[in-house]
Amino acid sequence: MGCIRRLLNYIVPKQLVSYGNIVDYLYRYFVEGINDPRKYGLTPKQGRAYAHRLREICFADHRIRAILKYVYKYIKELEPVIVVYDSYARCKLCGHEFRFLDRSLKYLMIMFVDHLRRNHREFLEQVIDEIIDSVKSELKVNNNGWSRSEGG
Ligand SMILES: [Zn+2]
Repeated sequence: MGCIRRLLNYIVPKQLVSYGNIVDYLYRYFVEGINDPRKYGLTPKQGRAYAHRLREICFADHRIRAILKYVYKYIKELEPVIVVYDSYARCKLCGHEFRFLDRSLKYLMIMFVDHLRRNHREFLEQVIDEIIDSVKSELKVNNNGWSRSEGG
């Protein structure tokens, strides 16, 4: 069904591992048209990289905007499953503890997302399915037309 699943597969894990600031930044950028990475704790370079990745997934800004508009609130409702403390983080799903010295965003996020994809793939799939179902039923009510162009 178009790029919605691939887009969710890219941004949902960020919310789930406590990097919802990236989701917020992308929403602000694509939906509200405001490029303000520092407000979300990102460097301009990081902001560009995340936006670029979404464009690789969905190709057209208007499609990204349409999808983010619908999925954002559902993503933000998700409680992170990896909770980050000062020098460690814990996965609420399996109890795994991550110890780290390097707090750089990229290093930690890749490690956490990797853990999620390796060990909790079914959970992740289920979360994404639920968001897609919620959007579908919302579109049924609104009869917006976006679902047709996305192949339902
Ligand atoms: Zn885990």
